[in-house]
Amino acid sequence: SSLSLSDFTKLTVLGSGSGGTVYKVTHKQNGGVYALKLISSDPNPTHLRQLCREKEILRRMISSDSPYIVRCHRVFEKSDGDLAILMEHMDGGTLDHTLKKEGTFSEPLLANVAYQILNGLKYLHSHKIVHRDIKPSNLLVNSKWEVKISDFGVGRIMGRTLDPCNSYVGTCAYMSPERFDPDTYGGNYNGYAADIWSLGLTLMELYLGYFPFLLPGQRPDWAALMCAICFGDPPTLPEGRGSEDFRSFVSCCLQKEAAQRWSAAQLLSHPFISKSR
Ligand code: ADP
Ligand code: MG
Repeated sequence: SSLSLSDFTKLTVLGSGSGGTVYKVTHKQNGGVYALKLISSDPNPTHLRQLCREKEILRRMISSDSPYIVRCHRVFEKSDGDLAILMEHMDGGTLDHTLKKEGTFSEPLLANVAYQILNGLKYLHSHKIVHRDIKPSNLLVNSKWEVKISDFGVGRIMGRTLDPCNSYVGTCAYMSPERFDPDTYGGNYNGYAADIWSLGLTLMELYLGYFPFLLPGQRPDWAALMCAICFGDPPTLPEGRGSEDFRSFVSCCLQKEAAQRWSAAQLLSHPFISKSR
């Protein structure tokens, strides 16, 4: 189409992080509201690689018809290498924000959220994409309570050779044991299982209100956290919390051995999800 970046007016900053700044923008002519992520090119080779990956995954996602992935309308590439990604605006913000604002999620709400994320993951995995950074701040929600996966900054397209410099990108806290220690936990089983582990931790966090490897209010010590992930038992809900189905669901996600973890398709038929539909 003939869309151009100059057709948009910036309204507010929606968020920013390592990957760039995201603005709420409006189209000057038709008044449509969108989210625009601006990523400046950076001579740092790690960032350049990350940018290339995000670009390629987004190109694939532009033709995506999944309602569970944040819709990406256009990728603008400026002559200086900077990138601008025009996306659908998710007016509820992140699940992280929702948790802080509305408090912890009930099980019926979580079953609904999990259903949507699992469908998004099933879609990505069937297109050979591992997200690698599933966590509350990369899951967006809108006022219709549609939950969608976003932020492909560290995703990986399967079938490429693993670049050791890139295997530690993402947020360590939600990383699966096999990403730290591939030999022990089945790192070459398939990469998709890593997203399932992150999903399990995310759902537990939304239920409990704190990150399951830490006590409420405890500050993360990265070395201790990595030890807990690799050498400790997987986190479980505290005694007496959660239904049998929910407890079983998180344990299917949080198997330390990658090959023991359920796939997105299998989890969609787990009683925690199927009974709620
Ligand atoms: P980063 O790589 O910096 O984490 P993200 O793509 O996750 O970049 O975007 C950063 C933040 O911007 C998100 O956590 C969220 O708060 C906000 N954001 C991103 N995309 C959208 C969107 N489509 N609609 C609303 N807010 C968004
Ligand atoms: Mg992000």
